[in-house]
Amino acid sequence: MFDLHAHSTASDGSLTPTALLALASKSGMSGLALTDHDTIRGLAEARLAAAEHAITLINGVEISAGWNNRTVHILGLGIDPRSPLLNAALADAEERRRDRGRLIGERLEQKGVGNAYQLTCELAGNNLVGRAHFARMLVEQRVAKDNKQVFRRFMVRGKPGYVAANWMAMDEAIGLIRRSGGAAVLAHPAAYTLTTRKLKLLMGEFSAAGGDGIEVASGNAEQAEIERLATLANEFGLMASSGSDFHGPDKPWLRLGQNRPVPERCTPIWHHQALAIDANRCYETVPPK
Ligand code: MN
Ligand code: MN
Ligand code: MN
Repeated sequence: MFDLHAHSTASDGSLTPTALLALASKSGMSGLALTDHDTIRGLAEARLAAAEHAITLINGVEISAGWNNRTVHILGLGIDPRSPLLNAALADAEERRRDRGRLIGERLEQKGVGNAYQLTCELAGNNLVGRAHFARMLVEQRVAKDNKQVFRRFMVRGKPGYVAANWMAMDEAIGLIRRSGGAAVLAHPAAYTLTTRKLKLLMGEFSAAGGDGIEVASGNAEQAEIERLATLANEFGLMASSGSDFHGPDKPWLRLGQNRPVPERCTPIWHHQALAIDANRCYETVPPK
């Protein structure tokens, strides 16, 4: 039983890498990819915990990237965490996100939200300040009544707290992952709410840029959705991945290891040389639907 998409406190997950691996072990899983947002900081700790529990750890990362004025998420699976290229690019992206956070803070302060940046930093704790943190701060300061109102009044294009994200381009992210020894996988393709035509455009460009696979089974997706994505994966010659996108027990709709197997007609991503997992050990404990 493998789960190829999970987060820890190194990004926005609520479990430390150690606690995450302990949960994976308790859940009877044999392998896990730690894929924190735009950072590989959790991997060293995860590696130690994985050894303790005899779980196969896949070194991973989930990179935010720009495509056609949207943000898409690209998983790097089986990357080499020592890659100087990867470390430099992630440090760079982090600096840009830090600048963006400061700028959002300044804009909100100009609009009369006192101490916006400082308050948001406190709320974000170890995490880099992002839009979601500003939204929470504005609700807590009673500047807006809920998350929905916050985004409508402050955080969308044309509003005071909106600053365009400056992600690396999708093809850059793919190149970076591959040159760091990993397989590039388009995460949760259904989450971008694209029309089928646009989704095919995305997958065509993803494949042309050297992308390896797509997440055919993501989170708690319905079987019909999985089948639809499996067909698309095959159409574009892409391998198929499966992951829960677990963020912690406080988001119970995404449970660690609950991800469905990839349909048999797909080529599973664990056959990719970057992962090289014994296929016979995969998913054998996932109960039938
Ligand atoms: Mn997240
Ligand atoms: Mn994601
Ligand atoms: Mn994720």
